[in-house]
Amino acid sequence: MSRLSLRWKIFGLSSVLLVTLVAATLLYVRARAGAYTLDRIQQELTATREAVERADGDRTDGLRETAQLLASFPELKALLETGDQATVRDFLLTYLLQNQRSELLVALDPSGTVIARTDIDAQVALPEARVRWILPALETGSAENQLVAGGTIYSGVSVPAEASGTIFGFVVVGVPIDDAYAASLQRGNAEVVLVRDGVVGATLPRDRVTREVIDAWRAEPSAARLRDVRVGAERFVGTSTSIGGRAPGVLAIVLMSRDRAMAPYREIEIGLVGLGFLVVALGMAGSAMLAKTITTPVAKLVEGTRAVAAGDLDYRLDVTSRDEIGALAESFNTMVDGRRRLEDQVRQSQKMEAVGRLAGGVAHDFNNLLMVIAGRAEVLLGRLGADDPLRRDLQLISDASKRGTSLTRQLLAFSRRQILRPTAVDLNALVTRMADMLRRLIGEDVVLQLALSPELRRVTADPGQIEQVIMNLAINARDAMPSGGVLTIETRGLVFAELHMTGLMTVPPGRYIAVSVADTGHGIAESVRPFLFDPFFTTKDASKGTGLGLSTVYGIVRQSNGYIDVQSEPQHGATFTVLLPEAEQGLEAAAPHGAVVRTSVGSETVLLVEDEKDVRDLIEETLRSAGYRVLAAGNGQEATGIARTYPGPIHVLLSDVLMPGMRGPTLARQLQATRPNLRVLLMSGYTDPVTDLAEGDATLLQKPFSASELLQRIREVLGPLSSGTHPPVNQNPSTDYLGLPSRVGS
Ligand code: ADP
Repeated sequence: MSRLSLRWKIFGLSSVLLVTLVAATLLYVRARAGAYTLDRIQQELTATREAVERADGDRTDGLRETAQLLASFPELKALLETGDQATVRDFLLTYLLQNQRSELLVALDPSGTVIARTDIDAQVALPEARVRWILPALETGSAENQLVAGGTIYSGVSVPAEASGTIFGFVVVGVPIDDAYAASLQRGNAEVVLVRDGVVGATLPRDRVTREVIDAWRAEPSAARLRDVRVGAERFVGTSTSIGGRAPGVLAIVLMSRDRAMAPYREIEIGLVGLGFLVVALGMAGSAMLAKTITTPVAKLVEGTRAVAAGDLDYRLDVTSRDEIGALAESFNTMVDGRRRLEDQVRQSQKMEAVGRLAGGVAHDFNNLLMVIAGRAEVLLGRLGADDPLRRDLQLISDASKRGTSLTRQLLAFSRRQILRPTAVDLNALVTRMADMLRRLIGEDVVLQLALSPELRRVTADPGQIEQVIMNLAINARDAMPSGGVLTIETRGLVFAELHMTGLMTVPPGRYIAVSVADTGHGIAESVRPFLFDPFFTTKDASKGTGLGLSTVYGIVRQSNGYIDVQSEPQHGATFTVLLPEAEQGLEAAAPHGAVVRTSVGSETVLLVEDEKDVRDLIEETLRSAGYRVLAAGNGQEATGIARTYPGPIHVLLSDVLMPGMRGPTLARQLQATRPNLRVLLMSGYTDPVTDLAEGDATLLQKPFSASELLQRIREVLGPLSSGTHPPVNQNPSTDYLGLPSRVGS
């Protein structure tokens, strides 16, 4: 059964149900019709039997009246007195003739001897006449009995003909009990069979009346009993009663054909059976159609599921109806669409991840190299006189290294390894602040429109980086509109109750702020889309594009836990939408930056830990030249040893974050355990995913940095230059989780 296809199951099951239902209906109708017919026959039979009894009684009464009339004729009395057979007979025959009657008339003398009779065979004696006809007539005024004459049984009545107490004779009037008599008793559809020793009269052809019928009643002629009998092949129901006078002898059996009564129902039944076949045929055709309607889409769905499982994500079901099946097909298509997009997204993000890791690694190493190049160039520039001929070359080296620095920054941004300082940012304020700068950037041919949603909540992000994002998008928009257009920057709040799929990413439910940058430029070709965010992908000529704009945007947005989507049609502009998670309530905007410390010299002791020797030497030289005492170490262990043995105070630890052996933050924690007043400034080219340092901490110094940047940050960490060499005691016990000094503005 389970191996049968769904179509056959539906078809088979509904067909069996249908046939059963139709058959049950027919059987029920048939049984009800049979019971009803039998009931009706029985009622009719009882009524007919009573009618037969009444008719027979009426007939006897008629005979009696005729006999009494004849007996009262004076002529007959006179003739009877004469005893002349011929004249009496003539009289009787004349009476029959004149009155157009056909009864059997018999005249008896007072002793019971037949004087005359109207039937032809007048010779047959009536031996028991005296007993049967005379004595009862004398007693009660009339006698009813049967008489057999010439093989015919008659039902007769005799009355005495008397005058003034003298009896002249008797008159007997009889009618033959035969087929005609049976016919006269017949009522409605009933058949009448008259039985004495054998059948004497019947409305049915005699040969059809079998012994079975006769014996059924002769054995027990109880009147009211109803019996079933067969006459030939026909089924009858019958009842019986005695007729033909008071003397028992003739039995009238009243029969009604059950088959004939059922005939109309049989016709209906044939009609119903025909109808049943029609219903079954139609039903089966319907169920075949239904099965097909249901199973065809299911089969297609199965085919689709297999195709999708086999990796064919282009498979689409035809949506041919608006019903549940159509909805199912639509959901399937949406699901496959979703899966396809998800796979695209996964592929894209894997690609970005891989490229990002590569870029991040390159940028890290480059940072150290660039620091040394830029730093040494700076040192040399400081030593050369203003008109030294080497100055120009050195300046070129310095400028090139700065460009390199900017490039590695962008690569780090893309690889999401930038050191971010997230705060609660009001995007409306940020965009408004940027407006003037953007107008200058996009030129006069492009109109800047702002559509800022009022009462916008804040996002958690690094404002500097978000400015970078908007600027990169605006530059691309400008480049897409060489002959002018409109650049629209829009902000709005969005709430997703469930997973939301953009073309590029799947956004989890939550509250977001969207900032979109839309242009009316030439749009993005379909072929360009897959590479849009790849680093170094550009369609612009070398002087204009580096291909790092969108990859930087991508990196910053992803590192800020945001999402990006792009909508574009060739020749109809492009809209880049960035979704940033809404800041948690209570997270306030960053405090205004503290007063910038301008002083860059000092005399405090710095413990410098850096594994790259060239970088270490450069930093050491820079610090020393600014007046600081420097204790240099190549790794964490070395630094711990120095800290343990150095007798004087160490004011600040300046350490790289990522070093072989011990990481910067761990070293800082260890040293602070024994030297609680130790301030910490960490240096890093990038953050890695497992960094245990709060990203927003201002005690991070991002590589590559310049000499002045370093000196300024060191001074900030140490606090204003005090008169003594001892740094001020930490007045503020609120430290972050590392035990590092609380934040200062960058
Ligand atoms: P670059 O701007 O240096 O080319 P990007 O990474 O910023 O690098 O952009 C990559 C490419 O994406 C561009 O060269 C351009 O083809 C396409 N692009 C970016 N923004 C738009 C835009 N708003 N309209 C049309 N094309 C764009």
